[in-house]
Amino acid sequence: MSDVLKPGQTIGILGGGQLGRMLAMAAARLGFHTHIYEPGAAPAGEVAQNTTIAPYDDTDALEAFARSVDVVTYEFENVPTDALDRIEALVPFRPNRKALAVSQDRLTEKTYLQDIGLNVAPFAALDAGAPDAAALLAQALAEVGTPSILKTRRLGYDGKGQARIMGPHDGRAALDAMAGAEAVLEAFVEFDREISVIAARGMDNIIACFEPGENVHKDGILHTTTVPANIDADTRARAFGIAGTILAALDYVGVLGVELFQTRDGLIVNEIAPRVHNSGHWTEAGAVIDQFEQHIRAIAGWPLVDPVRHSDVVMTNLIGDDLAQVQGISGETGAKLHLYGKTDARPGRKMGHVTRVTGPAKDR
Ligand code: AMP
Repeated sequence: MSDVLKPGQTIGILGGGQLGRMLAMAAARLGFHTHIYEPGAAPAGEVAQNTTIAPYDDTDALEAFARSVDVVTYEFENVPTDALDRIEALVPFRPNRKALAVSQDRLTEKTYLQDIGLNVAPFAALDAGAPDAAALLAQALAEVGTPSILKTRRLGYDGKGQARIMGPHDGRAALDAMAGAEAVLEAFVEFDREISVIAARGMDNIIACFEPGENVHKDGILHTTTVPANIDADTRARAFGIAGTILAALDYVGVLGVELFQTRDGLIVNEIAPRVHNSGHWTEAGAVIDQFEQHIRAIAGWPLVDPVRHSDVVMTNLIGDDLAQVQGISGETGAKLHLYGKTDARPGRKMGHVTRVTGPAKDR
C-alpha cells in the first residue's frame, strides 16, 4: 500500500473538538473524506462524512473506525495507550506514538527534551498522592526553589491542574490542587515573552516552520497571538532550530506546536503539543497555507508548502461570553472570524477566534 493518500480516501481523526473540525475542513479542501472518533458530542462531526461517538475503551467501535479509514491522526494527545494498540494494528497512525507518549506526561516530556539537548525549566517529580507527599514536596522545593509551579503530570491543559508556590506556606494548597495525582514541580521562569513555533515535518523528512508568534495568556488560557513576535533574528533562528531538533528526534510526521519562554539567558521550552495548536490559528489569515492543511498534507504523504507569511496579524480567542461580540467583529475590515459551532458559551470555553490583519508582512 502506498503511503501517499489520494483525494477520495479517508482520514480518521481522534477527537472531535474545534481542532478536529478545522482539520476536517482542511482535509475536505484537498478532496479527502474524514471520519471523527469522539466520546462525546463533537463540533467536528458537523463537517465530516462520518462520526463515531463511542468511548476510547470500546474495542469494537475503535476497530470498526480504524478499518473504515486510510490513516489515523489526532487533535487530542491523551488518547489511551490501549486504544492506540487497536488502531495501530490496522492502519497507519501519524504523528507517531512516540510523539504522543512523550507529550502525554510532563515528566517524560521534560526529561526527553533535556536528553535531546534543549533547555527546560528546572524540575523535580513527586507523587502528590503518596502518604509522605508533604515531605516529598519539601524535598522538591529544596531542589527547585520558589517561586515555582506544581503541575499534574498528565491531563493538564489551559493552566488546569497547576498551582503556584510562592513559599513553603503554599505547599499544602498546591498539593490539594493535584487531587492525589502524580506531579512535577517546575521552577517559575521569569520570561520576557512567550512565543511559539508551529512546525511541520513531511514523510520526506522536509521541515517547514511558520513564523513564530508571540502569545499572551489570560486566566491560564491563550488570549492573543501576535505575528511576528517581537524577537530578533538570532532568537527566531534558534526557535526554528529547537522545533527542527524536536521534529527530527521524534521522527515526526505532521504539525507540532512548540511553546517557548524567551528569557535573558535564551529560549526555554515550556511544552510541546503533537498536533495543530491554538497559537497557530493565525495562519488561516496570515500565511499562504494554514497549519491545518499543512498537517493534512504531511500525514497524507503530500509535499509540505513553504509557509510564507504574507500579512502581519493578531489572533484573539473568543472565550465564553466573547461570543456576544461576534456581530461587531463580523463587520470589521480585515478581521477573519472563525466560530466552532458550539452553542453553550460556558465561561472559559473556546467558542471561536478572530484573526485581524494588521498590515503586509514586515520583518522586525
Ligand atoms: P502550560 O499549561 O504548562 O503551558 O502553562 C500555561 C501557562 O502558564 C504558560 O503559557 C505560562 O504563561 C504559564 N507557565 C507555565 N509554566 C510556567 C513556568 N514554569 N514559569 C512561568 N510561567 C509558567
